[in-house]
Amino acid sequence: MTVRTRFAPSPNGLLHLGHAYAALVAHDLARARGGEFLMRIEDIDGTRSRPELAAEMLADLAWLGLQWDGPVVYQSRQLDSYAAAGERLKAMGLLYPCQCTRAEVLAAATEPGPDGPVYPGTCRGRAVSTAGAAWRIDMAKAISLVGPLTWTDEIAGMQTARPELFGDIVLLRKEAPASYHLAATLDDAAQGITLVTRGADLFASTHVHVLLGHLLHLCAPLYHHHPLLVEADGRKLAKRRGSPALADLRRAGDEGRALADMLRRGRFPAGISLGGGLGTGP
Ligand code: GLU
Repeated sequence: MTVRTRFAPSPNGLLHLGHAYAALVAHDLARARGGEFLMRIEDIDGTRSRPELAAEMLADLAWLGLQWDGPVVYQSRQLDSYAAAGERLKAMGLLYPCQCTRAEVLAAATEPGPDGPVYPGTCRGRAVSTAGAAWRIDMAKAISLVGPLTWTDEIAGMQTARPELFGDIVLLRKEAPASYHLAATLDDAAQGITLVTRGADLFASTHVHVLLGHLLHLCAPLYHHHPLLVEADGRKLAKRRGSPALADLRRAGDEGRALADMLRRGRFPAGISLGGGLGTGP
């Protein structure tokens, strides 16, 4: 089977060195195994997504010397597939409408989960208007339907799926057509991704993706959660804390291929290093 990886940035801001590193991991793992490297633009966050940044991101990749295979997939053009999956999950009785505001969720939540406060299920089992509602998964019901699941990370080894850590998360959002979790799971399958590479900060998300994949009868990929580039204080790089945008380096005439080779050799700019968290997560 051909190995197929992908790089899936969200055009909420320009790419920085951390993204370059993530793209290199995805690209190089595919190429080292004679496989394919695909591109996906995760542009469905209606409140934060800036479509004009997608072109900058693709130019950054080319500047780094990374070529992707096949057409670029834009999530904003896959909305029918998210809606269809939502209908399937509703037909299975696994989604319920929720009209809680963000403030109400925060006030009612008791424990922190990997994505933020865990929703206590206020709207579950209630007669709630579906007009303009968000749709949440009844996590306990979904888990009881599929039973125990495992997944494998190339670095961290076999994992027991723990989607219960997230509680009843939103899968169909009010202000966007689908959540990251649903859209990414569907697109990884639709693009035939066999090896999902991404930063260790998204390790826990995989618990949910594996559950959704089983519920929707999708092929199960292998995972590779790589460590993140971090600043001296251990925090991951962020443009707002001064990490330069690749687009700025590109425009300033820096040599992208040389930068890519430095990152490959583990030579990072001053104050930046590769963090821990190799597949460690809840
Ligand atoms: N779009 C996500 C991000 O930019 C990455 C998603 C993924 O690789 O699964 O953080």
